[in-house]
Amino acid sequence: MYNVKSLKAEEFINHEEILETLEYADKNKNNYELIDQLLKKAEPKKTDRGVECSGLTHREASVLLACDDPEITEKIYALARKIKEAFYGDRIVMFAPLYLSNYCVNQCVYCPYHLKNKEIPRKKLTQEEIKQEVIALQDMGHKRLAIECGEDPVNNPIEYVLDSVKTIYSIKHKNGAIRRVNVNIAATTVENYRKLKEAEIGTYILFQETYHKESYEKLHPAGPKHDYAYHTEAMDRAMEGGIDDVGLGVLFGLEMYRYEFAGILMHAEHLEAVHGVGPHTISIPRVKRASDIDPSVFDNGIDDDTFAKIIACIRIAVPYTGMIISTRENESCREKVMGLGISQISGGSRTSVGGYAGYSPYERPHDTEQFDVSDQRTLDEVVYWLMKSGYIPSFCTACYRAGRTGDRFMSLCKIGQIQNCCHPNALMTLQEYLTDYASPETKRLGEELIAKEIMNVPNEKTRKIAMENLNQIKNGNKRDFRF
Ligand code: SAM
Repeated sequence: MYNVKSLKAEEFINHEEILETLEYADKNKNNYELIDQLLKKAEPKKTDRGVECSGLTHREASVLLACDDPEITEKIYALARKIKEAFYGDRIVMFAPLYLSNYCVNQCVYCPYHLKNKEIPRKKLTQEEIKQEVIALQDMGHKRLAIECGEDPVNNPIEYVLDSVKTIYSIKHKNGAIRRVNVNIAATTVENYRKLKEAEIGTYILFQETYHKESYEKLHPAGPKHDYAYHTEAMDRAMEGGIDDVGLGVLFGLEMYRYEFAGILMHAEHLEAVHGVGPHTISIPRVKRASDIDPSVFDNGIDDDTFAKIIACIRIAVPYTGMIISTRENESCREKVMGLGISQISGGSRTSVGGYAGYSPYERPHDTEQFDVSDQRTLDEVVYWLMKSGYIPSFCTACYRAGRTGDRFMSLCKIGQIQNCCHPNALMTLQEYLTDYASPETKRLGEELIAKEIMNVPNEKTRKIAMENLNQIKNGNKRDFRF
């Protein structure tokens, strides 16, 4: 039976509830009166606490996703843009993945790291190699990483991950620093989540891959990841271990997208109901070609229009949850979906183990790659492109370092302090990037943008301090200012 507060996977991600949701959505997809009500309900509203949004339930949002009237789709896009504008403005947070090891004992049929893939060379970075990777990433200008690792208790035990996090944080090369390490590793125990929390990780990311239990078991035929309940209940254990920023995700292409959409929203509702805080981020990867992996064997692939609509509907349903797209998507797709609700993107990414150090920005090793990267531009090119397209690339990591995680981060969103906090932080970290790493053209464009945008900080005192800090970054070696 469906129970949002249950701690049992099959009860909070309840198959019958999803089927009924899809039926309800089909029945109401042309119910214009209801759709109108939902669009109104989800509008950002001014309250005495600032701007607030109510979001939508999985059932309500599923109706919007099911409706295929192009006029309604335009309304959905317009509302998603409005919500994004209210909470995220034009800021896009930048990050890069760092692959530590591709040893894996699982047999995920879509992943090239699967145990039986004999084509892929196996590699695990030593702490010295991690140091070199981090220096290369710092030299590009990155401040925020997501570490990635296959599941292998012998080769990649939790101690290895913890040592790696420590190594990453310890490296201070020139003006560089990695200030937030997000971790994408397999589901683990409360005790291990506690250790990750103590190591001061940022978000714990774990993709569900698919919420459909039967498909999940077929797609993960063996290995520890085969256990659907253990995997699905991982975020509850992470929260019990003290991690309050968790990142959900679905690998689109494996199952019916409408099933996954309802599932991921039910997961978000569950976390909110049980722990008082929803997911910090949602990722929306699509299956890509890779060693021993042909994406065309999965018959649930989605086109770019459907992808955009899913993003817009997620934005409307969970307005306070960040949304991430990776370099799995190409430039034109990224351009199309950015305004609909994306708040974080990766840039200059390598998905191979040891793909950064020793390579020029235009060279990329393919041997140990996890998937084919579609957006192959350098970080500088991505930063330039974002600014040209009207966005503010941000290297900010302030919230979690100031303890604004979990519900404290959400309340910052709700009281509308974002313009006085996130906005100047984005500009100051962008200035760091421009001063220390950017090409002359990117620097020129960025400094023009900062001069204009700093005027949009509403609080006069904050604006003045931010301007002083910007000058110190430009003219000296002081870094890491934040509100
Ligand atoms: N081993 C960890 C786990 O099982 O969750 C996390 C690391 S894995 C490298 C990160 C994610 O990459 C997976 O959760 C999966 O969604 C995604 N992935 C795997 N194969 C992929 C493919 N062929 N195309 C796109 N994404 C893929």
